[in-house]
Amino acid sequence: MFVLGIESTAHTFGIGICNEKGDILANEYNTYVPKSGGIIPAEAAKHHIKVKRILLKKALKKAKLSLADLDLIVFSQGPGLSPCLVVGRDFALELAKKNKKSVIGVNHCVAHIEIGLLFNALKNPIIGFFSGANSQIVCFAPKYKKINSTEMLKRKEKYIVIGETLDSGLGNSLDKLGRQLNLPFPAGPKIEELAKTGKYIELPYTVKGMNFAFAGLVTSAINKYKQGSKIEDVCFSFQETAFAEVVEVCERALSFSKSKELLFVGGVAANQRLQQMFKIMCLERGAKFYTVSKKFAGDNGAMIAWAGLKKFKKERKTKNLDIRPTWRIDQK
Ligand code: ATP
Repeated sequence: MFVLGIESTAHTFGIGICNEKGDILANEYNTYVPKSGGIIPAEAAKHHIKVKRILLKKALKKAKLSLADLDLIVFSQGPGLSPCLVVGRDFALELAKKNKKSVIGVNHCVAHIEIGLLFNALKNPIIGFFSGANSQIVCFAPKYKKINSTEMLKRKEKYIVIGETLDSGLGNSLDKLGRQLNLPFPAGPKIEELAKTGKYIELPYTVKGMNFAFAGLVTSAINKYKQGSKIEDVCFSFQETAFAEVVEVCERALSFSKSKELLFVGGVAANQRLQQMFKIMCLERGAKFYTVSKKFAGDNGAMIAWAGLKKFKKERKTKNLDIRPTWRIDQK
């Protein structure tokens, strides 16, 4: 069985192809970079329209397949920016109709996790999912049901969110800071680079129970920069503070779930410093750390194809193919 996945939730348009064994046969993507400021959804959608056929052609060539060889077309149904989601959904429907293929929609956040689980066979992980728009600590619902409230027992979803950001995602927070430091989008990699030679300046640290927040930290870091702090020090201090917040909460999640496995996925998983902090924490408590390679950390079509294949085996079809811009990982 060959599955084609289409990713288009935000800045990146991606086409991935996988087979039933989980071999990734192609994973082509192209990212819209705003000229200045943040993503303009309509502009990102225009970008996706421009690149979609080129990427499809490239992916099929790489996989040595034709459209006729495919068995299933999958698209990212949400969450994401509506104009971008529509491009991916419409392209999926067009391809499915022309070639008489089945089509299903998947949750983009579930796909970030499923690709992590494809490369790491885990039994009961705590999953740290940190991307641009999302930052959540997730675990398998059936495992959680054993240890927590009756409210959770009613849920049928595979994943339960046990901690999350109270404002923006970690990646978007890095990008917001980056804009004020005049760094190109996405700012995460550049901040990581600059942080390597920085020194610590004190910044606010916000953890509330199992949740964390970054907005005050972003504002404070920008103010420090405007008041004359070195860019390297601001980047280092921001990373150390924000990352300590999420490591603290992940450690608590490992502790109360009695899990010995931490899986780190999403675009921010490319960050070596946060990987290192997670590794130290896991080592200290006898847990194992797992992650994904950079090409599967950020948005990509391969993760959509794989998540779609898994969903297809259970559900066969998606009844409602409308886009779902605010679809949470813990909602049906
Ligand atoms: P979502 O997947 O939640 O819809 P998204 O599409 O923005 O959000 P991804 O493509 O998974 O997310 O990740 C992009 C984010 O990852 C950006 O915010 C970017 O700054 C961040 N990022 C990428 N590389 C690094 C890095 N090396 N260090 C820190 N952050 C990084």
